[in-house]
Parts: sequence; structure tokens; C-alpha cells
Amino acid sequence: MDNINWSGLTFGYLKTDYNVRAYYRSGKWGELEISDSEYVPMHIAATCLHYGQEAFEGLKAFRGKDGKIRIFRMRENALRLQSSARGIMMAELPVELFEKAVVESVKRNERFVPPYESGASLYIRPLLIGMSAQVGVKPAQEYLFVVFVTPVGPYFKEGFKTTPVGIYREYDRAAPHGTGIYKVGGNYAASLAAGEIAHAAGYSAVLYLDAKEKKYIDECGPANFFGIKNNTYITPASSSILPSITNKSLIQLAESMGMNIERRPIPLEELTTLEEAGMCGTAAVISPIQRVDDVERGQSYVFSKDGKPGTVCTQLYNKLRAIQYGDESDEYGWVTILE
Ligand SMILES: *Cc1c(COP(=O)(O)O)cnc(C)c1O
Repeated sequence: MDNINWSGLTFGYLKTDYNVRAYYRSGKWGELEISDSEYVPMHIAATCLHYGQEAFEGLKAFRGKDGKIRIFRMRENALRLQSSARGIMMAELPVELFEKAVVESVKRNERFVPPYESGASLYIRPLLIGMSAQVGVKPAQEYLFVVFVTPVGPYFKEGFKTTPVGIYREYDRAAPHGTGIYKVGGNYAASLAAGEIAHAAGYSAVLYLDAKEKKYIDECGPANFFGIKNNTYITPASSSILPSITNKSLIQLAESMGMNIERRPIPLEELTTLEEAGMCGTAAVISPIQRVDDVERGQSYVFSKDGKPGTVCTQLYNKLRAIQYGDESDEYGWVTILE
């Protein structure tokens, strides 16, 4: 294990030394426990297995040139997990307990935080699940919170590049008043079928339209959508998209670069007027879109003829990565440096 090929890592699971857990029982959260097991024993009637009481988070830790480890915006993830918990009737985890568990899980697995030069990082996966037995459809009484970590490779192995995405009108990921705004496994289950079809057709992701009218851009399977035109950063306002912390950060950076910000419904036809488009999320920061194909209608919206990312996407990407790795000062207080 001591000779991991850091730059050969993909976005996969590699066993690390420890994970951190806490149980909610009899109406309160217990102390953090350190575990070296990769397994969770549970009741066969646990609500996470039957009724989808499962929410998760995703964030990263980075090793800087100075050798220090930086965790990006973990408080935002703690707050979002609370929102997901409320959304599907699970016990809410206190922000301090979340942060403590994240820090502990990184510290205990410090040897898995990739070196600066590799461009890799440590992916942190917090998970909250309903544990107690329930056969009738009701929320559980007991919950388990787990944080595990795994080193992941640089998203763009051959350099920052664009990919095509596809619209599949026969599939929806989330309904307007459903659970799209929560980071829950159920939304991912709903996106798997279209995702497999799109991947087989050569698309990196499905771009979903709003489920009600199929008129507006919603988001991609696992990432928010944004477009750039006339010095403006535009991202959908929708009741069924997940509030991405990367998107929130890019908005602040775009503002500081003197760009205008618009959060509003984006009609599909508006794609013809965008200068650049991208997907954003923790995994890639920005994954610039080469073109959007409206598959059933046989229509294409092209953003990059030569396959190269646009200048604004590139600038935003470099800026956010520089803050995450500590190459640039953390003006916004986004980074927790481990001592
Ligand atoms: C996690 C997630 C994102 C990205 O959120 P970040 O906080 O930026 O990682 C976007 N869309 C969906 C559906 C997600 O689950």
C-alpha cells in the first residue's frame, strides 16, 4: 500500500485504513467511533434498504505544495446533509459532529492523501442511513452516520477537456416537488437507466430538462449546469436541482472576476446563444461541455468546435483549483487546513 501509483488512480474505491461512525439511538447522537471494517451490520428490515432512507455527501481534501492538507468547504456539506435529512425524515446530524468526523477520517488516513504533484486528491464520502427495522412505511428510529475516504485520481488525466452530453426526453431524474434538491440515493437510482444509455452512446452525462414542461434546462445526472454569455454566468433556478457547492463557489469567483450572475430558468433554445457551457461538481470542478445533443429530436447545440474548453471555463477552473490546493490565498475562508 505504500507504493500507490498516485497519478494512475481513477475515480474508484481503494481501501483505506479507517472510517468514522456515529449512531443515533434513543433520540440522540452518540460519540464518534473509529472502525477498520468496511462493512455495516444491519437489520434486514432497515429503512435504508426498503424505503430509501439514505443521503450522502461528497467533498475533497487536497495536499498543497507546502505539504499541508486542506479540506474544501466542509461546513457547506454539513448543512446540505442536514437539509437532505429533513427532506427524507432522517435524524439531523449536528454540524460540529459532521466536521469532527470529516477531520478525523482524513487525519486517520493521512497516508492516503495524494502528493501535490499527482493532481490527485482524497475523496471524502459521508453517508447517513436509516438503520432500525420498519415494515410499514415510516421513518426509522435509529440512524448511522459513516465517513469513509478514498484517494481519487485527477479527473482530467489527459488535461482539461470538453465532452458531449445528451438529452433523453423519455427520462426524468427528479420531479418539481420531489427530492431533486436533496442529495439522496433515490435520485441516483432514478438516473441510472438513462445514464447507462447515454454512456453507451458516447456521452459523458445526461442533461435533464425540467420534468413538468421539458422546456428548461435542469441539471446533469451528477452535476449542475451553467452557461456563459456576454460576460454573464447563468445557472438554472429550479425546484428540482441539487444546490451544488462547486456552483456556489464558481458564482462567487465569477462575480469577483467582474461577471454578472443570473439564476433563472434557462429555456432549451437559449443554448444557441451561449458562448460556453459546463457541468460543475466536486469530482471535476468544471467539466466543459463540447455539445448538447437533443437525442430524440436529432438537434445539436455546439459550444466547442475544436474540443477545447472556453476561456471563462478555463479561468474559473484554474482559480478554484488554485484555492483548493493552496496555490492562491483563501480569500473566502473556504478551506480548513489540518494541523
Ligand atoms: C453532488 C451533486 C452535485 C454537485 O454538488 P457539489 O457540491 O458541487 O459536489 C450536482 N448535482 C447532483 C445531482 C449532485 O448529487
